[in-house]
Amino acid sequence: MTAPIHPQPGIMEIALYQGGASRIDGQSNPLKLSSNENPFGCSKKASDAISDAALNVHRYPSTDHASLREAIAEVHTLDPERIICGVGSDELLTLLAMAYAGPGDEVLYTEHGFSMYRIFALSAGATPVVAPEHNRTVDVDEIIARITPATRLIYIANPANPTGTALGNDALARLADAVPGSCLLVLDGAYAEFFDGYDGGVSLIEAHPNVVMTRTFSKLYGLGGLRVGWAYARQEVIDVLNRVRGPFNLSTVALAGAESAMRDRRFVELCLKNNAEQRVRLVGGLNQLGIACDPSHANFVLARFADEEEALAADAHLKRSGILVRLVKGYGFADALRITVGTADDVSRVLAALSEFKGST
Ligand SMILES: *Cc1c(COP(=O)(O)O)cnc(C)c1O
Repeated sequence: MTAPIHPQPGIMEIALYQGGASRIDGQSNPLKLSSNENPFGCSKKASDAISDAALNVHRYPSTDHASLREAIAEVHTLDPERIICGVGSDELLTLLAMAYAGPGDEVLYTEHGFSMYRIFALSAGATPVVAPEHNRTVDVDEIIARITPATRLIYIANPANPTGTALGNDALARLADAVPGSCLLVLDGAYAEFFDGYDGGVSLIEAHPNVVMTRTFSKLYGLGGLRVGWAYARQEVIDVLNRVRGPFNLSTVALAGAESAMRDRRFVELCLKNNAEQRVRLVGGLNQLGIACDPSHANFVLARFADEEEALAADAHLKRSGILVRLVKGYGFADALRITVGTADDVSRVLAALSEFKGST
């Protein structure tokens, strides 16, 4: 008998990712505010491009993504050669860990950081290290205090999920200055567009060889189902990622849809305007009901209740009202619910349901 086959060390420590709920028993069309999706769907131009591209799926897709990278570069005023596109930003965040960290290395992220960071670290065989946050906000000094010679990657989502809080340019610059050259600082910009005045880290990338930013089409662009993200960094980092990604990682359909979505700036402006307006309404309405909520810089808010029992009761009441939100116990917030900012009507429905809930307790 030979020894049984084993996966790489660390892999069996990974718990399966739990996505936002999408069904309520007995309700045919729930209002889904559990995954930070775009309440308006995607741009009509993008869905038309997707339909057209579907006629050509017998052809292999482009391997260099040149046309999508050109569109991204034009809109964001970036060098197209230093953009890489991936199957969601998840793929690029994974490839960064695979390419730069391994057994014996440390991957650092924060207490309430995105649950995938631990998975990326363990998949690469590296050791996850967690820095505490304060007041549900990333703390630069706590991160700096945990950097060791073994630290290879630091993941920070800015704005952060599920808190919606964000670090300003000065705090990020202070962190970037303190990260040694042997370690990459990865700024996950899944919600960067919703943070007014934030460039996603572009200026830091120009000043530091070891800063990387990732962006996605899944949130603002309403294309979570299409799976497209991108990253920007110094050429050396992009060249490394291009070596390890699959040559046909993005389908013809995905490339066409993402490019049209990027070029439809009118739709993007409309979505951003709605989010800014309705986020203020949602936070204000929650506060009026005595539900605490930090100022959010994303397309969701973290609503904090008295305790876990009240949060679960509120979740159950929302479900009875046909509304799905996200439980965030796994992120260290048993007493809170993450609620995606929807349309004006969506926000009215959430506030009406929670007002009913508060009135009945
Ligand atoms: C949604 C999300 C992502 C990535 O999503 P993709 O769909 O893979 O692009 C990355 N980071 C955070 C913090 C997110 O919330």
